[in-house]
Order: sequence, then structure tokens, then C-alpha cells
Amino acid sequence: MKKQYAVIGLGRFGGSMVKALSDQGMEVLAIDIDEERVNEFSNIATHAVIADTTDESVLKSLGIRNFQHVVVAIGDNLQASILTTLILKEMGVEKITVKAQNDYHEKVLKKIGADKIIHPERDMGIRIAHQIVSSSVLDY
Ligand code: ATP
Repeated sequence: MKKQYAVIGLGRFGGSMVKALSDQGMEVLAIDIDEERVNEFSNIATHAVIADTTDESVLKSLGIRNFQHVVVAIGDNLQASILTTLILKEMGVEKITVKAQNDYHEKVLKKIGADKIIHPERDMGIRIAHQIVSSSVLDY
């Protein structure tokens, strides 16, 4: 059976994840509380739905428990990100990846059992710095 992915929060990060997963032929459910954002992804994702993921009954009705990997890409709203992750964890979702805003956010996410925590801007900054150094070594 094909792996099923869900991405919650369709900002620049979540949105690009939805596009990349779809480009790779994956089944992806795109979720956001904002109707306009959801509309942008209706032709890209397998399904795109408007939902507040801090509401457990909404996540249940979407059958989110059956998805193999859920990405929480809610940005500035730390409370929504943390609560969504907690509900997904309690529902027994197999793998949860969460975008963290800051160290405090990461600490809480670790505590509630997020499987993978990412800081896109920080991680990309580190990667680019390494690339710059290694390319200048090669240049030399
Ligand atoms: P990026 O840099 O990826 O754009 P960002 O931190 O600026 O990240 P936001 O623009 O805040 O990201 O994107 C987060 C998305 O999460 C928004 O589209 C917002 O509508 C959505 N969101 C916020 N709260 C909820 C919620 N409770 N349920 C579902 N989606 C939510």
C-alpha cells in the first residue's frame, strides 16, 4: 500500500513540502485553517481540507491516525503547533515531524514525543556555511 502523508500548515515550508511530496508521486493530505491557502493546494495535493487541527474531533474525522507520517508546519502559533502535536501523539500517529520556531518550542516538542524536530532556517544556515567553507577549500 502507498504511504500516506499529511502536512498541517501550508506556509512556505509546509507548502513546499506538499509540492515536493506530490512531485514524487506520494499521496498527500494538505490541511490549513485558512481557506485561501487550502485553495492554493487543491490541485497539487491528493486532498486539501480546511481544518483547525487543535480540535481533536476534526483530526479524528479526517482519519489522521492512519497516515504513516504527519508533518506539523504551523508557524508562529506555538500553542496550535504544540497542541496539534500532542493530539497526534495521543492518537498514535506513527511518525510526526514538527517545524520548531525556537529552542523553547523544541524543548516542549521533545517532551511530548515529536519524532523529528526541524528548524529550517537554522539548519539551512548551517548547511550553507558548511558548503561555503568546503567550496572555498576546493577553490584553494
Ligand atoms: P513559513 O516560513 O513556512 O511560511 P511561517 O512560520 O511563516 O512559515 P505561517 O505563515 O505561520 O508559517 O504558516 C503556518 C500555517 O499554519 C498558516 O497557513 C496558518 O493558517 C496555519 N495554521 C495556523 N494555525 C492552524 C491550526 N490551528 N490548524 C491548521 N492550520 C493552522
